[in-house]
Amino acid sequence: MTGPGPVRVRVAPSPTGDPHVGTAYMSLFNLAFARQQGGTFVLRVEDTDRARFRADSEQQVYDTLHWLGLDWDEGPDKGGPYAPYRQSERLDTYRPHVDRLLADGHAYLCWCSGERLTAMREEQQRRKVPTGYDRLCVGKSEAERAELPGFSPDPVVRMLVPDAPPLSFVDLVRGEVSAPRPDDQVLLKADGFPTYHLAVVVDDHLMGITHVVRGEEWISSTPKHLLLFDWLGWERPAFAHMPLLRNADKSKISKRKNPAARLTWFLEQGYLPEALLNFLGLLGYSLPDGQEVFSFEEMSRTFDWGRINTVGPVFDLDKLGWLNGEHVRRLSEDDFAARALPFLQRAGLVSEPALPEQLEVLRALVPLVQTRVALLSELPALVGFAFVPEEEFAVEPSAAAKALTPTNAPVLLAAADALEAVTDWTTASVQAAVDGALLEGGLGLKRGKAYLPLRAAVSGASVSPPLPESMALLGRERVLRRLRAAADALGAGADVG
Ligand code: GLU
Repeated sequence: MTGPGPVRVRVAPSPTGDPHVGTAYMSLFNLAFARQQGGTFVLRVEDTDRARFRADSEQQVYDTLHWLGLDWDEGPDKGGPYAPYRQSERLDTYRPHVDRLLADGHAYLCWCSGERLTAMREEQQRRKVPTGYDRLCVGKSEAERAELPGFSPDPVVRMLVPDAPPLSFVDLVRGEVSAPRPDDQVLLKADGFPTYHLAVVVDDHLMGITHVVRGEEWISSTPKHLLLFDWLGWERPAFAHMPLLRNADKSKISKRKNPAARLTWFLEQGYLPEALLNFLGLLGYSLPDGQEVFSFEEMSRTFDWGRINTVGPVFDLDKLGWLNGEHVRRLSEDDFAARALPFLQRAGLVSEPALPEQLEVLRALVPLVQTRVALLSELPALVGFAFVPEEEFAVEPSAAAKALTPTNAPVLLAAADALEAVTDWTTASVQAAVDGALLEGGLGLKRGKAYLPLRAAVSGASVSPPLPESMALLGRERVLRRLRAAADALGAGADVG
């Protein structure tokens, strides 16, 4: 089953649009296995479908896989001993194999026009018989076929599936698998481009691929591939078909229905690459001890085909959010700050490049927020108050409605007066002053009640990092200004004056 020699695996995305999350999922499993085995991971671009080809898609595949740290050893951009790795640059490679199949009687020319094939399929559907090519062209010369209706002068090449093709194979994930009998699949299209089925077999063989690790949707194609390997006299690789990623309603994840089918979505949303990898890993795999939070290295080290799920895992974004929070908390403070920075820059809170004083504020904020966010994209709302220019600072209307009510004006003023007298502006002294003025011994409030209006006035929101720390970080001037401004807005100034 598995030939001797080092493991070589590949991921073979088709550049047809925004990279699909399935490309990352397949890359992850291929790479985890390759790294465990000391093998090689190849990236091959399957761009033979010219109708669906999108020029920018290949670069997006590179960018998103790099972001995830799923690096390949050989590929179109890297080269390697089996270059080129883009199928459109390998067209000359396929033709001789097609000629050999034709000469050996395993394939035939088919001149049926698209219209005839459509009519044939519709008729089969109407009669409720299995659809498939009816072999009108088998055994005919071009001249003979031209006399019949539905002739097209540009033929395709089809495989001649024998009466008893190999329909079962051993899958590393599923054990013995059987698939339905294939149709006489087109191998070479009228435009001279190979179909996926021809190109994938020729390239997997020529590139020395030992294990074909791909999605479950290809199981039904595997018998065609087995035939081609056998006809061409090539050793079959091992196969592992991974379960399809599914929506909660069990349908296949598609870019049309689910924004999370697009890999770039995860970048935009502020997920950490290590959390997404963990999530994708967990969808198909479990660690021997059931540990749910794991790194790529842990997955690769323990990798075992026997522990791959065969049931379609549901893509549960709540679980991803939880995992992301876990990975956020594992970052060093410096790493967290470095990853947070672009989100603050994109939100216009920090300049590009960041100013030293902005970096200092960010560093001071890290211990206050690292445990409080699940996604980095939550940061601008949480820490914006520490970066906005004072003249742009405003309390969110919802926070104001809840916390800045006229009865709270005296609370704001009492806090401001107490803070005015603080000489060393530290978290401890800020807290002591506020608590002394507002809690027992002062206005007699409970802390929650006392902090509610202060938080809204100072941070502009109902949720913020811890209040005393936030006030210490903002500095006396800004805190006093914001407290008094909030009190003024409630008409407190008029009362006092
Ligand atoms: N180009 C195919 C795809 O886009 C690759 C399938 C395979 O790995 O054999 O899914």
